[in-house]
Amino acid sequence: MAGVDIHFKCTQCGKCCRDSKVPLTVAEAIGWLNRGHSVQLICEASPWPRGLADEDPGAAHFKRRSFAAMSGTLPMRVVVILAANNAGACPNLLPDTRCAIYADRPLVCRIYPVEINPSIALNPAKKLCPPEAWMKDLPVLERSGRTMNDVVRQDVSSWRDADAADALLKSRLCVALNIMDAALVHEAVLIYSPRPEALLSALERAVQAHDDVPVPTQWRFVSDRSETLEDVAAHGGIGLHVRDSDAVSYQHLNFAREALFGPYLATGS
Ligand code: SF4
Ligand code: SF4
Repeated sequence: MAGVDIHFKCTQCGKCCRDSKVPLTVAEAIGWLNRGHSVQLICEASPWPRGLADEDPGAAHFKRRSFAAMSGTLPMRVVVILAANNAGACPNLLPDTRCAIYADRPLVCRIYPVEINPSIALNPAKKLCPPEAWMKDLPVLERSGRTMNDVVRQDVSSWRDADAADALLKSRLCVALNIMDAALVHEAVLIYSPRPEALLSALERAVQAHDDVPVPTQWRFVSDRSETLEDVAAHGGIGLHVRDSDAVSYQHLNFAREALFGPYLATGS
C-alpha cells in the first residue's frame, strides 16, 4: 500500500502458534519430523500453457516455487507445501507462550505477520495479532509495502530461496509417495497426511538423490466443480471429481488463494 506505514511489535500472545498450518522448508520438515511431530503435504496446481506471462508477480511467484508436470496433454505446474499441522497448540509452545525451539524455529514463525507472497499486501485485519500489536507508537514494520525490519526481510528472502530450491526435490518426493493428485489453484488444496516415518524416509531419499532432471509425472486435477473438470478435459487434462476419488489419503479443502499464500493457513474446516 503506497505511502502507508504499518507499525508492529509482537505481544507474544501465542495465537499464531495455535490451530495453524506452518509451512516448512524441506530442511525444517526433516527437523520437525525428527522431533516426533507430523508434517502434511498441501498440493495445488495450475495449467501452464507456453508463454504464460511471467511478468505477472503472482504467476512468477507460483512458477518459482513449483515444478513442471503434465496432466494428459496439458502442461501444468504443481506447488507442494510441507506444513506442520498444529491442531490446538503447536507441540513447541510452552505454557507461558514461549517457543521451546525459539533459536531453531521455522522461518515462517520468524516472518509472521509479514507476507511471503510478494503480490499480497500485509493487512493487519487478516492477521491473528491483537490490536495492541499494531499501535502507531510501535516500530514501523512496513513502509509503502517494504518491510523495514532487516532481519525479517532477510528471512523472507531466505524462505523464498529455499521454497524455490526445494521445488524439484518435492517432485521426487511426490513420486516416492505416489502422490499425483492436486487441486486447482484459486479453488482448493489437497492435503495429504502421510505416516511421519514414511514421509521422513521419502524426504531423506529425495534429498540424497541429487537429481536435477525433472521426473516426468502425470497428474490429475481434483475438483468438486463440474465446470472445472469440463474445462480441464477440454484442454487435454485429466480431471477427477472429489467424490470419485479412490485416494482416501487426502482431504479436499476449498481455500481462498489469498489465504493460501499467507505464512499460516487457518485450519478453518
Ligand atoms: S515452532 Fe515455536 S514459534 Fe513456531 S508455531 Fe511452534 S511454538 Fe510457535
Ligand atoms: S499472533 Fe502476532 S502478536 Fe501474537 S505471538 Fe503471533 S506474531 Fe506475536
